[in-house]
Amino acid sequence: MNEQTATAAPVWQQRFFAYINSIKTKLIVSFLLITLTPMIYISYVMLRNASDGLLNVIVNNSLAHARKASIDLNRFVAHQLEIIQLLRRSEAALDKDAKALETLIREHDSRHLSLEKIYIINEQEQIVSVSNSNPIRHEIDFGEAAGLLQHRPFLLLSTVGADGRSSVALVAMLTDRKGFNYALLVMELNLLQLATIVSENVVGSSTRVYLLDENNRLVLSYPENIKDNDVKVMSTRISANEYGVFAIDAPGLAQAQLSSFLPVVGLGWKVLLSQDQQEVYSLVNTFQHNLYWILFLTIIVAVVIALIISQNIALPILQVTRGANELAAGKFDVRITVRNTDEVGQLASNFNFMADSLAGKMEELRVAYKELQSRAQTIEQSNIALDRKVFEIGLLYQIGSSMGEIGLDLERLLDVIMDKAIEAANAKRGSLMLIDDNQEVLELQRVRIWDEASGQTLPISDFKRNINIRPGEGIAGKVLQTGQMLTINDPDNHPDFKQYEGESNRVGQLCCVPLKVKNVTFGVINIVNRKDGRDFEKRDTDLLETMANQAALVLDNTKLFKLAITDGLTDLFLVRHFRNKLNEELKRARRYHKIFSILFFDIDHFKKFNDTYGHQIGDEVLKQVAVLFKNSLREDIDLPARYGGEEMIALLPETDAQGALVVAERLRTAIENHAFTGSDQPLHVTVSLGIAEFPGHGNDPLELIRKADTALYECKKHGRNQTSIYSDEMGVVSEK
Ligand code: GH3
Ligand code: MG
Ligand code: MG
Repeated sequence: MNEQTATAAPVWQQRFFAYINSIKTKLIVSFLLITLTPMIYISYVMLRNASDGLLNVIVNNSLAHARKASIDLNRFVAHQLEIIQLLRRSEAALDKDAKALETLIREHDSRHLSLEKIYIINEQEQIVSVSNSNPIRHEIDFGEAAGLLQHRPFLLLSTVGADGRSSVALVAMLTDRKGFNYALLVMELNLLQLATIVSENVVGSSTRVYLLDENNRLVLSYPENIKDNDVKVMSTRISANEYGVFAIDAPGLAQAQLSSFLPVVGLGWKVLLSQDQQEVYSLVNTFQHNLYWILFLTIIVAVVIALIISQNIALPILQVTRGANELAAGKFDVRITVRNTDEVGQLASNFNFMADSLAGKMEELRVAYKELQSRAQTIEQSNIALDRKVFEIGLLYQIGSSMGEIGLDLERLLDVIMDKAIEAANAKRGSLMLIDDNQEVLELQRVRIWDEASGQTLPISDFKRNINIRPGEGIAGKVLQTGQMLTINDPDNHPDFKQYEGESNRVGQLCCVPLKVKNVTFGVINIVNRKDGRDFEKRDTDLLETMANQAALVLDNTKLFKLAITDGLTDLFLVRHFRNKLNEELKRARRYHKIFSILFFDIDHFKKFNDTYGHQIGDEVLKQVAVLFKNSLREDIDLPARYGGEEMIALLPETDAQGALVVAERLRTAIENHAFTGSDQPLHVTVSLGIAEFPGHGNDPLELIRKADTALYECKKHGRNQTSIYSDEMGVVSEK
C-alpha cells in the first residue's frame, strides 16, 4: 500500500494527464493544428518573401516614377520645342514681325497652359514683349545665348528672379529671311504645369521631386519651397552623374532616404525623386503588422471556434462519460440532460434508458436480496438451533460412551460428568455433591475448574471436603430437598444463597441440578459462572438437566452393576465375572498370539485359623489378604477375583509363568510378613500359590485354572507357604 502511494503521481499530475487525454483537448488541438498550420506557414512565407518583394516593388516603383517624370518632362519640353521650331520658321519670325509672331504664338498656345510668358529679346538686348508686358525676369546675355544656340536648337534656362521665384525658360534664336540672327525668343514655361507633371509621379507623403538643370542647379522642386537638402547630400552622385536608386543615410539627413536619380533624356536635365525610407518601409512594416494582426485574429477566431466546437461535441460526451462513471460507482439515479439529437444526444438518451432499466433491475435485486437475507436469517437461526441440538446430542452421546468406556471406575465417572456439565453450560467452574451413606447430608465430592490456558477442565484437590449440607440448607440443600433444579443469575440478592467460608471465587451465575433416579435425589451438580459472563438461559439449564438425568441413571446403573460382579466381603470380582473376562482374554490372546498367566492361591490351614480365632476375625483376614492381593497386581490390567472360600485367583495378561512367579512370590512374602489386625495381637497367615500360563499349559480356561490349582496343590504337598509353576510331572490335575 505504502509503495503504491509512494509511486503514484500527484493529483494535479493525474488531472493534467486526464485533461490532455480528454476528447475536448484533442478536438481543440486538432482543430487548431488544421487551421493554424497552413496559416502560420503562409504567413511565414509571406513575411519572408513578400516583404522582400514588396521592398523591390517599392524601389522599382520609385525608380519607375522617377523615370516617368523624366519621360514626361522630356515630352513636355519636346512639345515646347516643336512650338519654338514652328514659330522660328514662321513668316512672322522671318519677317521680324513681332505683332504677327505674337498672334501666331497665341494661336499655338491658345490654352495658355504650357507657356506662361513669351517675349523677344533683340540684339540690343531690349525686350520686345510678346505675351504681356511684365518686366524682364531673366538676365539673358544675348551674345552668350547666341553663341550657345549655334550648336543646338534651343536653350533651357533656369533662373531665380528678383522676387526669389524660380522660373524656367526655353530660349531659341530668331532668324530673318537672310539668315541673320536677330533676336532671342524666350518662352517662360509654366512652372505649375511642370510641377503638375512631376507631382503625377509622387507617391506617399514624404516624396519630393527635384528638377536639376545641366549645371546641376535646382530648377524646380515639388512640393515647392522645400529645402534642397537631398540635393546637397546627393551632390557627389549628381556631379558624377551616377544614375539609379540609392538608399542614403548620410549624417546631414533628418531621415534616411530612398532616392532615384535619372537623366531627362535629350535635355541634359535630371530628375531626383527622394522619399523617406521610413515611409517606404512603413508600407512593408504595415504589411507585416497587418499580417501579424491577421494571424493573431485568425488564432483567436480559431481558438474560439475550436472551443465552441469542442464545447458542442466534447461537453455532451463528457456528460455521458461522467454519467457512466457515476452509474458505475453505483449512483443509479444519475441521468443526462439530452440537449441535441446528434449521435451523442442519442447516446445520452440510450444511456438514460439503460440507467432507467438498470435502476429497475437494481430495485428488483434489492427486494430479492432482502427476501434472501430474511430467509438466510431464518436458516441461520435454524442452523444455530440445529448446531445446538447436535452439540447437545453429541455431548450426551459422549457422556454415554465415556461412561461405557470407564466402566466401573466411579471416581473417573464423576470427573467425566463434571467436565461435560461445565462444557455444556459454557461455565468456568463446577462441583458435585453426593448424599452420604446414611442419607443425611450432601458431601462435596468434586470441584473442577476451566483452565483457559490449556483449554481443559482441571481438578481442584484442595477444596474443603468437610462441607456437608443438610437438606433444605442453602441452594444445594433446597435442590436436594425438592429434587427441582434452581438457577440463580444474581446470587448476591438471593435469600438462600450462601458463600462458603474461605471461598474466594465470587459466584456470578449459579445453576444447581439434582441427580435423581425414580424421584430419589442422591446428589447435586453445581455449575458456576458462565465464561461469557451472561446469565444461564433456559436452553443451558435444559441441557444440564437432561445431562444430569442421564448421569444419575449411569451412576445408579454402575453402582448396581458393580454390586452384581463384586464380592461383598473382599471387594474382589466374583468368579463368574472372572470366568467371563478369562474367556475374552483367551480369545484375544489366540487372535493376536499373546500370552497370559493364571495365578491361583489358597490360605494355609485356614480351617484351623477360624477355629482358633473365630470366623469374624477370619473374615477380617480375608479382607486384608484381598487388599494385599490387589496391591501386588497392576491396576486396571490384572484381574483379581475371589474364587471361593479363602481361595483367590488373578488373570495376568501379557505375562508368562516366570513373570507370574515374580508377582506370586512378592505377594506370598507380603502376606507372610503382614501383621493382620482385628485381634488383640498381630496375626499371621501364609499362602500357597500355583501358576499356569497360556498357551504353554493349556488352551482352555477351565484347563488352565485346573493346572494352576494342581500347581497350588503341589505346594500344599510340599509344605505350604510357597509358589509353583505347573508342570506335567505334577500328575493329577485338580478337580476344579
Ligand atoms: P489347607 O488348605 O492348608 O489344606 O487347609 P485348610 O484348613 O485351609 O483346608 P481347606 O482349604 O479345605 O479349608 C477351607 C476352610 O476355610 C473352611 C472354612 O473354615 C474356611 N473358610 C472358607 N470360607 C470362609 C469364609 O468365608 N470365612 C471364614 N472365616 N472362613 C472360611
Ligand atoms: Mg481351601
Ligand atoms: Mg486352605
